[in-house]
Amino acid sequence: MTRVLVINAGSSSIKYQLVEADTGERLASGLVERIGEPLGHVVHQSLINDAHGAGGSGDGGETVVERELPVLDHTAGFAAMVEAFAATGHPVDSLGITALGHRVVQGGGDFIEPTLLDDGVANRIHELGELAPLHNPGHYQAIVAARRLFPGLPQVAVFDTAFHQTMPPESSRYAIDPAIAADHGIRRYGFHGISHQVVSRRAAEFLGRPLASLKQIVLHLGNGASACAIDGGRSVDTSMGLTPLAGLVMGTRSGDIDPGAILHLLRRGLDVDDIDELLNKRSGLLGFAGTNDFRDVRAAAEAGNADAQLAIAVYVHRIRAYLGAYLLELGGADAIVFTAGVGENNAAVRAEICADLDWFGIRIDPDRNEADARGPRRISSDDSRVEVLVIPTDEEAEIARQAWELVRG
Ligand code: AMP
Repeated sequence: MTRVLVINAGSSSIKYQLVEADTGERLASGLVERIGEPLGHVVHQSLINDAHGAGGSGDGGETVVERELPVLDHTAGFAAMVEAFAATGHPVDSLGITALGHRVVQGGGDFIEPTLLDDGVANRIHELGELAPLHNPGHYQAIVAARRLFPGLPQVAVFDTAFHQTMPPESSRYAIDPAIAADHGIRRYGFHGISHQVVSRRAAEFLGRPLASLKQIVLHLGNGASACAIDGGRSVDTSMGLTPLAGLVMGTRSGDIDPGAILHLLRRGLDVDDIDELLNKRSGLLGFAGTNDFRDVRAAAEAGNADAQLAIAVYVHRIRAYLGAYLLELGGADAIVFTAGVGENNAAVRAEICADLDWFGIRIDPDRNEADARGPRRISSDDSRVEVLVIPTDEEAEIARQAWELVRG
């Protein structure tokens, strides 16, 4: 048994999954949210059955536990998780958990691979909160609480930035005064690395070709969105930068914007927090169309709403601009891979992104693209020189795999 408890914590929530690291099978998952508010919420789903050889008195079916209770802090959050496991008849200490894997968004230049957590590593993650104020502080709190609660289990930090540490300087450096850049840690780090890594590996498996032989462009299109150029399994460029605000149009984030626009807004009286909120929380699809749910934007566009049509037009235009750039950077591509909520589910946006690219050897098969399917699949036509694939992302399985690899030694 190589079971890893995968933790994805924010400042007010803990998402978790119990994963069989060898196979990526999900055995349980849950969410503790509204930590620190008067009333927290816990929902836990157990998929453990007799075949998993777990102890406990569960009936073997799918069980859901839901609770409303005050959850003071992350320690209380983990206690609520432990209680939920027990309530399904599978207490955590009966499950053969071998390690915890923590997702960490920002690893800076320090962490280029999964890292065993000790006090020093945890403190460094805390310090890197300067570069990721929305993410790392929550990770840190969860790490401290989990290390206290599960002192006997090895715990591993898996970083969203690590996969992009292979970017060459021409991709990762900004053209500003190098002394100031070094002083303030300003460079392109890139994010969604765990997703880009698992998706590119599974794309190679799907194609039955060695990862090392493939040039891929992965489009992670979820509420957050990023593109990644991958050469032989190594990230060589990506659309997010110092922070996850850069690049593609996202659910609520602007993506690329002239830095001069920020100076202009500052001079016109908006303060830093106003602009932070504007660009991170009130822009992107939401800014144009009033909703960040792509399904609603699509429905509104189809009903003739001009704002929603513009939102999709800018969204697609931006993705195509990155696609074109990465085709040049890589000197062509073997595969273009769609993943995450929008990329996996919205055939229309995939067709729009790949429209009129015959010259590049990219051709979608409409029936394959529109087929009501779930798993990894090919959507390009047989005469397309470039494979166009849909590969579901699974960041939790990848975190479990990486954590287990490290712990196993
Ligand atoms: P993620 O961040 O990967 O969970 O993706 C969230 C985004 O995926 C949201 O904008 C959803 O509207 C979008 N999404 C989820 N399911 C669908 C679907 N069936 N069709 C279109 N968009 C979807």
